[in-house]
Formats: sequence, structure tokens, C-alpha cells
Amino acid sequence: MGEKILVVEDNELNLKLFCDLLRAHGYAAEPVRDGREAVERARLFGPDLIVMDIQMPHISGLELIEQLKGDEGLKAIPIMAVTAYAAKGDEERIRDAGAEGYVSKPISVMRFVEAVRALLAARAAEDEPDLPSGDRAPAANAE
Ligand code: MN
Repeated sequence: MGEKILVVEDNELNLKLFCDLLRAHGYAAEPVRDGREAVERARLFGPDLIVMDIQMPHISGLELIEQLKGDEGLKAIPIMAVTAYAAKGDEERIRDAGAEGYVSKPISVMRFVEAVRALLAARAAEDEPDLPSGDRAPAANAE
């Protein structure tokens, strides 16, 4: 089994899409529908990466990223935010909250998988001073 990826997404179709896509690429995907459960589920599952929807009821992805990055045991796990926001400054806010990666919806399957790979590779190489994934260009909405 490949690396473990926790997928936090309130939209059932997106959740299934992301998990199916990750599993098709050999990852062990664990779905979380309710953002309020994300921190506890991350503790239990011990993911190598967290894919995080930003627009969710009850708790926003931004708040969750801040919680995860404020937790000693969880802050090292890279977070890839997925958001439908296209407004200028949103990516910056998400990165300021601590997310290492950012993909905009509607996702490009190829870009999604590439971003996952890059974040996992960066995590695997985290001893090295030069992380390869940090400065990826903002995802243009090519669709
Ligand atoms: Mn959502």
C-alpha cells in the first residue's frame, strides 16, 4: 500500500472523486466528510499528506489548516488545499495559514496528482535544505 492521504471534503462527489483518483494511483485514501472530525482522524490515521477542501460547513478549511499547523504532533504533515476560490489573494491566505500546496477547482486530474506527488516527494526529502515543491506556480484554471 502506498502513502496514506487523508481527504477532508464535505461534497460527496468530490470526496469520492479525490479518493478514487488517489487509490487509482496507489495511495491509501481515507475520506473525512465532516471537517470537525479532521484533527482527530489525522491523529488516528497518521497520514503522509492531507488534502483539504476550503469551503466546508461548521469549520472552514483555513481554520482547520491553522489547527493542524498549531498541533505539535500533526504540523509536519503537508497539506494540499483544494478550493473553488479564484479571487486574488486567496492562495496567499491559504499558504499563510500553513498549507504547502494549493490546487483550484475544478481540478485538473493531472495537476492534482502531480501536486500530491510533489508534496509527498518533498516530505520524503525533508532532510535536504532545498525542498523541490515549495515554489510551484499558482495553478491557472486552464479548463
Ligand atoms: Mn466544500
